[in-house]
Amino acid sequence: MAPIAKVGGLGDVVTGLARACLLRGHTVDIMLPFYECIQKQQISDLALITVYNSYHDGNWIPTNAHRGVVSGIPVIFIEPSNEFFKGQHVYGGSYNELEAYLFFSRACLEWMQVSGIQPDIIHVHEWQTGALPLLFWDMYQYLSLKKPRVILTIHNMEHYGECRQEQLSKCGLDGSVYATIDKALDDRTIGHNPERLSLLKGGIVYSNAVVTVSPTYLKETLCSRWLASTLIAHRDKYFGILNGIDTAMWNPATDVFLPAKFSGQNIEGKKLCKHYVQRGLGLASEGIISGNNVPDTMLKVPLVVCISRLVPQKGLHLITHAIKYIEELGGQMIVLGKASDSRFEGEFKHLAELHNHGPSIRILLMYSEELSHMLYAAADMVLVPSIYEPCGLSQLIGMRYGAIPVVRKTGGLADTVFDMDDQSNCEIANGFIFEGVDEGSLNWALDRAFAYYRDKPDEWNSTVQKVIEIDNSWNKTAGEYIKIYDSIRVRS
Ligand code: ADP
Repeated sequence: MAPIAKVGGLGDVVTGLARACLLRGHTVDIMLPFYECIQKQQISDLALITVYNSYHDGNWIPTNAHRGVVSGIPVIFIEPSNEFFKGQHVYGGSYNELEAYLFFSRACLEWMQVSGIQPDIIHVHEWQTGALPLLFWDMYQYLSLKKPRVILTIHNMEHYGECRQEQLSKCGLDGSVYATIDKALDDRTIGHNPERLSLLKGGIVYSNAVVTVSPTYLKETLCSRWLASTLIAHRDKYFGILNGIDTAMWNPATDVFLPAKFSGQNIEGKKLCKHYVQRGLGLASEGIISGNNVPDTMLKVPLVVCISRLVPQKGLHLITHAIKYIEELGGQMIVLGKASDSRFEGEFKHLAELHNHGPSIRILLMYSEELSHMLYAAADMVLVPSIYEPCGLSQLIGMRYGAIPVVRKTGGLADTVFDMDDQSNCEIANGFIFEGVDEGSLNWALDRAFAYYRDKPDEWNSTVQKVIEIDNSWNKTAGEYIKIYDSIRVRS
């Protein structure tokens, strides 16, 4: 959940969708593990509300439920008394992650049961909460939770939630019951490992509705190698809804992290943000600011940013190639990224050592929400060269901050970015697209973007104004979620 426990786009979605539903008059509580790494000062009105026990592996674990408010949104934090969710990061702690999320899935339902709370809808995300629909239909629905219905959002199908039968049994279900093709048996191991289940697949089968995060990704998943047959079997309850962005959190006109504010009507502040970031990071920046005016000469050097988890999905070979190529083109590039794998971290550290003292490239290997806001605001272009991308928020946030997207045509990127050189698209054209996964394809898009930036400054500026004003907010798509909630809820 952004901003307190955000790793990637899922965190933005949880916050943004919750806010959009609240604004439409619905009651929303987000349930979150009380990760030890959460900065408690970012939670207001934090209070212990329930002390209860929840089952795990033969024991009832004493558990606390706290209530608090984050960015105006009510949150219930589940805090088990064992080692689960301890550590300095949201993911990758020294506890068993699979078991921790199995515990969490049950502890949420157990909390509803002991508190006598029956929401209309329980909305779960990813494999981590994939066991909740199983627990609901095969256990809690026979206890006191009659009313809720369950919806699952798949943010990324690569994360499958592999789980052995005996591990699933630790949450109190009989794992062997789910080891069939029509339930949770892992499609990849059918025929040779009946022990292995997939929590994501179980979640798909047992939820009343399943959503993925863009229409194009929906089509891609229906042709995928592993879960396609399950998704096809459940096609009538499977939907593709584009993610929105939380425009309260992402607003260049009010953003507290920016040295100057701007909007589609007045983009002057954006030039100052660029200058500020260039100076702050020691990148070459021509001209000196006098008053509020930045001389246009310094604006001839396009600044490209790439803000991303550094994992293969994101097109790492294309990101590293872009670093070289953008420098050759006389542009500047800033990468803000964090790798979870030591090999990729090593490679990017090496690149940082090579480039970070020069005038045009900065590679910042960290996670920083604050810096991400400043970089989107400073950027002329935002690069998203993903190999696959279920929705992608980086291009949407970039546009909201006046950065023109340069993206690979896949998943949600294909649904939100339309090429400037495609004559049939003039009205909605907002960026530069390439299709191949090779360096040449990326070069072609960057060449066109740089030429446009340098040769047609007036058109470039109007495109900047245009992309800032595109409505990619939850206002547009939250209604589609609400329609689905409404179609599956039990009417009393
Ligand atoms: P994914 O969910 O696959 O990570 P998205 O594009 O949907 O990709 O969402 C990424 C989100 O995470 C965006 O809000 C982006 O700004 C943010 N982000 C990614 N890496 C970093 C980082 N190193 N520092 C700050 N924010 C980051």
